[in-house]
Amino acid sequence: MRTTTTIAETRAFLDGARAGGATVGLVPTLGSLHGGHTSLMARAAADCDVVAVSVFVNPLQFGVGEDFAAYPRDVDADAEVVSRSGVDLLFVPSVEEMYPEPVRTTVSVSGLTTRLEGSSRPSHFAGVATVLAKLWNIVGPCRAYFGEKDWQQLAVVRRLAADLSFPVEVVACPTVREPDGLAMASRNAYLDPAERAAATVLHRALLAGVAAVEAGERDPAQVRATMAAVVGTEPLAELDYAEVVDATTLDPVDPLTGELRLLAAVGLGRARLIDNVGVLAD
Ligand code: AMP
Repeated sequence: MRTTTTIAETRAFLDGARAGGATVGLVPTLGSLHGGHTSLMARAAADCDVVAVSVFVNPLQFGVGEDFAAYPRDVDADAEVVSRSGVDLLFVPSVEEMYPEPVRTTVSVSGLTTRLEGSSRPSHFAGVATVLAKLWNIVGPCRAYFGEKDWQQLAVVRRLAADLSFPVEVVACPTVREPDGLAMASRNAYLDPAERAAATVLHRALLAGVAAVEAGERDPAQVRATMAAVVGTEPLAELDYAEVVDATTLDPVDPLTGELRLLAAVGLGRARLIDNVGVLAD
């Protein structure tokens, strides 16, 4: 496996691979790699001749007062994980390499980005879209791999690729969970033992929402209330939002019908955790 830190050496390596006819898959990450990330790498390795993983804690996608400085970073551990995952190239740029000058050109996806995560994190998705536009231009992947864990991000990334005609197929991969249901996430490292035990409330709330829909509930307010009530049973957890929306457009649906997505965010100590599940209301 090759590790690069500059855009030039990354392009040179991948230009060589493409010249030989190889297909390139990209797994963009913030690092602090876990089983969710390695599932994306395994899928990319199964689909593509050459797999590139980027590890970059992108300052543009962190808002003022968020955890950019505290975000867990361990490049050596990440390199070890990547080297065992069928990956050919690990790209670990510095902030200076990616943003040598104050950024004046950004990409933002409208509509999809204002609600849910967007209401708590107004600049987040523009930061994600901008760094992905750069990574796609640097790496030139024919496929890029994203987790359903970040469902709204997936919707934003799909529109980014379609609207700007990036020649990249966006591949969605299922959420990988701990045995007790907690979605794997780098920010789980912020949880102390009591918070870690309490964190299962997020997935339990979503499953209660799914059960309500499956039992015939078609009022979104009732489904929201069901999820909020479950979060309310856990004193350490603070509900940010619990919503049920159209799975594709992320628009509100009332009465509930079709492919739905239930999404929720909670605060737990220093951590802010998000998760989502799908359900069909027919
Ligand atoms: P991050 O490093 O948190 O930005 O995540 C990088 C990629 O891994 C994103 O596409 C995430 O959606 C995906 N990912 C993170 N956690 C999980 C998980 N538990 N299961 C599946 N994919 C995940």
